Amino acid sequence: MTPADAVIEIRNLHKSYGPLEVLKGVSVTARRGDVVSLIGSSGSGKSTLLRCCNLLEDSQQGEILFKGEPVRWSGQGAARRPADPKQVLRIRTTLSMVFQQFNLWAHMTILQNVMEAPLTVLGRPRDEVEAAARGYLDKVGIGDKADAWPGQLSGGQQQRAAIARALCMEPEALLFDEPTSALDPELEQEVVRVIRDLAEEGRTMILVTHDMKMARDVSDQVIFLHQGLIEEEGAPDRLFDAPQSARLQGFLRSTM
Ligand code: ADP
Ligand code: MG
Repeated sequence: MTPADAVIEIRNLHKSYGPLEVLKGVSVTARRGDVVSLIGSSGSGKSTLLRCCNLLEDSQQGEILFKGEPVRWSGQGAARRPADPKQVLRIRTTLSMVFQQFNLWAHMTILQNVMEAPLTVLGRPRDEVEAAARGYLDKVGIGDKADAWPGQLSGGQQQRAAIARALCMEPEALLFDEPTSALDPELEQEVVRVIRDLAEEGRTMILVTHDMKMARDVSDQVIFLHQGLIEEEGAPDRLFDAPQSARLQGFLRSTM
């Protein structure tokens, strides 16, 4: 593996909220085209790890590299912060995040939601952004909803709009935090289908999910987090069919 193959590389990351140590030395690599799924009980640190990836959270120890480029830090321990705001912005704008609760702007149409960040953050030309936005809405199957308001859409349609919005930033990688958890089972599948399509076209993704079937279907690698440490990781078939650790065995039983 050359450094450029790794879109995101996390080495020995430690993260605390005050006295609570949430990540206790976690290493994760997502190579170009990889789908890495994070599974584990509530509170095990999955969302925190995802938020550390795009520097929404500080961390106290360890390294984060983006396409081989290390994040530069100033200060140490509890005082450690990214040293260069421009580097943070550049990294964050090329890692698009999709949240459990969609987080669409209610006062903007679906098309405006998708166009907003490419226009204002990247400063791309409006006609080019609109064409791309319409293309991504078509891609996720809601091209006919461009002029609707978020409140007029089902949860599954809103989440697909949020995915189109993430794609319109032309990101190097997509970060998903429980993208199907807020959806009724019958709406979950339309979002799973979109995520599977993205995996098949070779997108780099880190996916936090409680949906073990989706994790098995779309992942190249699955990581089981337990209390801020990687308890077990591996290819999905191996991990789900032959879990080694008693904790993972127990966790998988609890999800069936
Ligand atoms: P998961 O996504 O696996 O459910 P989280 O990463 O959200 O877990 O949380 C891991 C731990 O960190 C939990 O104990 C949670 O209560 C704590 N935590 C998360 N966010 C904060 C925060 N902003 N301040 C304090 N503690 C937090
Ligand atoms: Mg979470």
